[in-house]
Amino acid sequence: MELNIFNTGSKFIEAKELVKEVYLADERPWVVGFSGGKDSTAVVQLVFQALSELDSSSLSKKVYVISSDTQVETPLIINKITRTLGRIQSRALELGLPIETQKVRPKVEQTFWASIIGKGYPTPRQKFRWCTDRLKIDPANRFIIDKVDQFGEVIMLLGVRDSESSTRAAVMQSHTIEGKKLMRHSTLRNAFVFAPIRAFNLDDVWEFLLQYESPWGDDNNELLQLYQDSSSECPLVVDKEVKESAGSCGNSRFGCWTCTVVNEDKALSGFINSGVDWLRPLYEFRNFLVEIREDRTQRQKHRMNGEVYLTSNLDGISDIESHPKIYKSEIKQYIENNNINLATVEDLDVIVIDDDGSNKRFGVGPFTLNAREEILRRLLRTQKAVRKLHDPNIELITIEELKAIRKYWHDDLQWEDRLPQIVKDETGEDFDWQHDDRPVFKEDQLTDLETLCQEEGVNLSLLKQLISVEKDYSGVKVRRGLFQSFDKTLKQDFLHL
Ligand code: SF4
Repeated sequence: MELNIFNTGSKFIEAKELVKEVYLADERPWVVGFSGGKDSTAVVQLVFQALSELDSSSLSKKVYVISSDTQVETPLIINKITRTLGRIQSRALELGLPIETQKVRPKVEQTFWASIIGKGYPTPRQKFRWCTDRLKIDPANRFIIDKVDQFGEVIMLLGVRDSESSTRAAVMQSHTIEGKKLMRHSTLRNAFVFAPIRAFNLDDVWEFLLQYESPWGDDNNELLQLYQDSSSECPLVVDKEVKESAGSCGNSRFGCWTCTVVNEDKALSGFINSGVDWLRPLYEFRNFLVEIREDRTQRQKHRMNGEVYLTSNLDGISDIESHPKIYKSEIKQYIENNNINLATVEDLDVIVIDDDGSNKRFGVGPFTLNAREEILRRLLRTQKAVRKLHDPNIELITIEELKAIRKYWHDDLQWEDRLPQIVKDETGEDFDWQHDDRPVFKEDQLTDLETLCQEEGVNLSLLKQLISVEKDYSGVKVRRGLFQSFDKTLKQDFLHL
């Protein structure tokens, strides 16, 4: 990378002075988002340098440096972040700086695996990037809200820069207040945003990092090395509007190893190409996550709320003429005539002609329970492979996540309670599963129920949902709402097109 050696240090000195000025201006604590990438490293380094130059008597307010651990971070990167946080903490203690480091994690019910394997969320893509909210923004926001409760107001420090994109510059401009130094947080009340390297361009960031030694003893040349093959990072974004303007995310080594937002993986392939061979099973598993998302037979034929919808995405259909065609108004009749159960059908091989004459097909929703089981099995096999190749203690999924997934499956009417057996099959481990959510029916009873439903022409899936509703209300004194819940279940879209 070429550096602009004529860039005077004055920009850096100005930024450092600004950091001092904003720090001294009030008592509101700071929260710095640190992703381990170049921009946030520059911010923490700048803060470190500025605070070290202040008189110790004025260092009264806290600076929290937080990093997100999505629990699916690329292993080498999360280890690096953990080490760096440790170094920042001990150096700050040595120098008497009021810096405190902390990792923030998603709630167990909201992790990547709980969302995908538990709830069936399709693996994220650019148009449905649910992951940044669940894995990064929500945990960071919980931390901030906690500090707001404690201190009244907080200031977030972000490594965002105007030069990253004109959209982002415009978003930041529209939020700027207080003599142009702070921005209002777009969603959190009593939180403000300070972007000390806002005026830096890319060359400035690298020049700053390479010109000034890391105060906690990291080698910033190593950081530069990490960027050789990747252009961006998935930062610890803590402002939704700034996130929306951030463009692509995931095309980087600083993101989740499971990231399916970009087609071409950068998080793992760069390391594998430079010889870190034990990451290969992770790479293959990540590619499997992309494939299974595109396989319509692995997806439910309705959204999570039961809604059936049409889509103009006809990817994978090469010869439209060879598929049966129906008009939108004929859908209900077609389903009835062909005895199609949308809760169980593999795929509906039919083109629907919409009211405007365009060709559509049925859209797909969450992963089916079978697909989720398959993802879990493959993940556990991947974990086994990496344990053998590299680290016998590595954990790709935690027992707490497995318990959360088991509960989600149960809520999704998988009463056979197959998860403990899958875990045992794949890992040989028999955990102490708590039996507080024991299956409603035993396996043989379920088979009887299935046979009965077939004989009587009753939809098994619907019956299970109704029993589940009843179970939710059992033991409750006031059963008001039970009939509304029955009604809601019976009126689901996929049964009443
Ligand atoms: S790296 Fe990819 S999967 Fe992870 S939060 Fe960012 S966009 Fe989502």
